[in-house]
Amino acid sequence: MIKKVHNCVIMGSGPAGYSSAIYASRANLNPILFVGPQPGGQLTTTTNIDNYLGFPTGITGVSFIEKCERQAKRFNTKIINKSVSNVYLSDKNKGIHRLFFEKEYIDSRGIIIATGSSPKFLGIEKERKLIGLGVSFCATCDGFFHKEKNVAVVGGGDTALEEANYLSKICKNVYLIVRKNYLKASKALQYRILKRKNVNILYCSNVIKIIGNDFLEGIEIFNHEKKIYTKFLISGLFIAIGHIPNTDIFKNQLYLDDGGYIIVKKGTTITNKPGVFAAGDVQDPNYRQAITSAGSGCMAALDLEKYLSS
Ligand SMILES: Cc1cc2nc3c(=O)[nH]c(=O)nc-3n(C[C@H](O)[C@H](O)[C@H](O)COP(=O)(O)OP(=O)(O)OC[C@H]3O[C@@H](n4cnc5c(N)ncnc54)[C@H](O)[C@@H]3O)c2cc1C
Repeated sequence: MIKKVHNCVIMGSGPAGYSSAIYASRANLNPILFVGPQPGGQLTTTTNIDNYLGFPTGITGVSFIEKCERQAKRFNTKIINKSVSNVYLSDKNKGIHRLFFEKEYIDSRGIIIATGSSPKFLGIEKERKLIGLGVSFCATCDGFFHKEKNVAVVGGGDTALEEANYLSKICKNVYLIVRKNYLKASKALQYRILKRKNVNILYCSNVIKIIGNDFLEGIEIFNHEKKIYTKFLISGLFIAIGHIPNTDIFKNQLYLDDGGYIIVKKGTTITNKPGVFAAGDVQDPNYRQAITSAGSGCMAALDLEKYLSS
């Protein structure tokens, strides 16, 4: 039996994956979407989304993703509840790419990679339980909930300083907790943060304990130089120690940057392989928002449609 060659296979069921599925199905590309190891993606780990356009009273992450899935199904996207374990990506124009899952495979002329990224965790107790209840990975998403309150940011790199800078304009005090005795971030960012009067930098420090059961009430910090333990009462803990893009299976086939993110042609979702497009957090070390992911999912479907019809 000759196996069918599809036009569009999408990997990922976050906002980028579903947005690309809606556009691709409306363009008659009959997409097949693999939900992957985290059905619904990162948003399913948060409580409220308050910054997505069109939801004036906010929406829970789970409800939002359910709506995305329903919308994709309405246009007949075929959803497969599995993960892609390996890929063979062709170098040829209109070549056939092969995706492996469990003991099967599927062939397609077009692929949209929307496998997202995962935030790095501190690895301490209650950290996962209190996500959305004080523990956050995104100041732009959750900073507003801590207006005029005390918060802490963990990390000493660019992201952590960006987060601390953003929060310093909303919150009363920001404790920046840095493991080393120096900041890794760019000099320009350091200069900006050092000027902020309500940012207090705690060097040589690790968060060792989260205080609070139903929501975050504070943290305990250990200064490993002075050997001192200190408690801080805070309403928000923003963990900014990095993200890991889910690109392991593409490593030797797609161009990746130093952080492992897929490199796309500027202003497009085009990768170095013809017919392979990348959307959402997996190709975006900078913005990492639901709305930017959905936007690039749309771009990927349009880029793929153009590729197939050229
Ligand atoms: C706790 C938290 C709260 C957040 N709050 C907000 C917020 O309020 N507002 C906002 O705009 N943003 C928020 N974000 C950021 C937002 O969640 C991300 O920017 C967005 O989800 C990225 O979408 P994505 O589709 O690119 O990838 P993701 O949501 O990361 O989804 C990736 C998908 O790829 C799938 N996948 C991975 N590997 C494979 C594989 N091998 N085969 C098939 N599928 C695979 C996964 O199962 C998953 O479905 C938050 C993030 C976190 C962690």
